Amino acid sequence: MKQVDYIIVGGGFAGFFLAHQFLLSNNSFLIYSAGQVSASHISAGICNPVILKRFTTFWKSAEQMDYLETIFAEIAAYTGKNYIVKEPVARIFHDDAEKKQWLRNAEKDNLKPFLDPNFVQLKTVENPLESGIVKDSCRIDVENFFQDMTSYFTAANQFVSESFDYNAIDAENSTYKNIKYKHIIFCEGVAVRDNPYFDKIPVLPNKGHCLEIKIDQSIDPYVIKKKHFLFPLSENRFYYGGTYDRFSTTPEIQLQSVEELENGLKSFYKGNYKITKVKAAFRATVADRRPILGTHIDIKNFHIFNGLGARGVLNGSYFSKQMFDYLEHQVELDPDIDVKRFY
Ligand SMILES: Cc1cc2nc3c(=O)[nH]c(=O)nc-3n(C[C@H](O)[C@H](O)[C@H](O)COP(=O)(O)OP(=O)(O)OC[C@H]3O[C@@H](n4cnc5c(N)ncnc54)[C@H](O)[C@@H]3O)c2cc1C
Repeated sequence: MKQVDYIIVGGGFAGFFLAHQFLLSNNSFLIYSAGQVSASHISAGICNPVILKRFTTFWKSAEQMDYLETIFAEIAAYTGKNYIVKEPVARIFHDDAEKKQWLRNAEKDNLKPFLDPNFVQLKTVENPLESGIVKDSCRIDVENFFQDMTSYFTAANQFVSESFDYNAIDAENSTYKNIKYKHIIFCEGVAVRDNPYFDKIPVLPNKGHCLEIKIDQSIDPYVIKKKHFLFPLSENRFYYGGTYDRFSTTPEIQLQSVEELENGLKSFYKGNYKITKVKAAFRATVADRRPILGTHIDIKNFHIFNGLGARGVLNGSYFSKQMFDYLEHQVELDPDIDVKRFY
């Protein structure tokens, strides 16, 4: 019987960042991932320490931004690639009140490192009131990250491209099919609702649509944000998204969301474009806006890492380290993120 320290269920940001921690520590692990397109795979990958509605920041944003550099340098050491694209967010202002708010907030200690008080005039999109730059914001090359990480773990026989079957667990003997495990960590995003061990944990689906579009011109080298985000994926291929919908629970593409995206795009981009792909998936959100980490109430070697919300990259990378330290070094979890808050 094969033996592993960890079985990881889920190959999104949560599962992959956690696998990375185990790779560094030489723990043995297997990732099970069903291969469906999930929120992680269609995400914009933006890492932005500023909430762009009110120009405020969020819990542990500075620590998360710092750790991002560390973890991606560690990942580059074995994939050979840097996935951080240093194109900052440029937020198009809607009115003068927003500009004043930005400048006021730029004076505050926690926002000074991020809100650039020098506004810019973008040249290829409409921004009559200029745009504010979020210093140090960046994005991850999501496509190449998942492609390379999947190839790497597959080559190392650490990736199993199949659906994890909850009925095949023998929890008493800690076996799954022909594998003896020490721990299982469930990182299934919204699919945790099908997990009989954690289905009572209140993860709320929030559906997001995004577009891939073809534009035959270059755009200012920023992640341009008005209602949604616009940035290049490769020459002439652009990402535009994503929407938020707390009510839809079915996976199909909805025309009204596509319309919302097109209207958003047309409000600042006046050139020609062609939609080449529309995608939709569910973010796993939590009412208190904190991720969910920790251990099953009864089965002490079953764990959960979920609830990354709209910040899969920052939350996934930063909290994978907390999850690792909790599992391997018995470092207590902050009660704000501990799954115990739901027991
Ligand atoms: C349109 C859109 C844009 C976004 N943009 C950003 C952004 O710019 N920046 C950012 O940080 N975040 C963004 N997000 C949010 C981010 O994508 C999520 O927070 C993140 O993907 C959650 O990762 P996860 O690994 O927890 O879950 P998921 O991405 O849902 O991954 C879970 C994985 O588990 C697998 N799985 C589930 N059950 C099983 C099973 N039984 N067996 C095997 N495998 C299983 C699924 O197939 C899936 O691959 C965006 C989301 C959307 C929808």
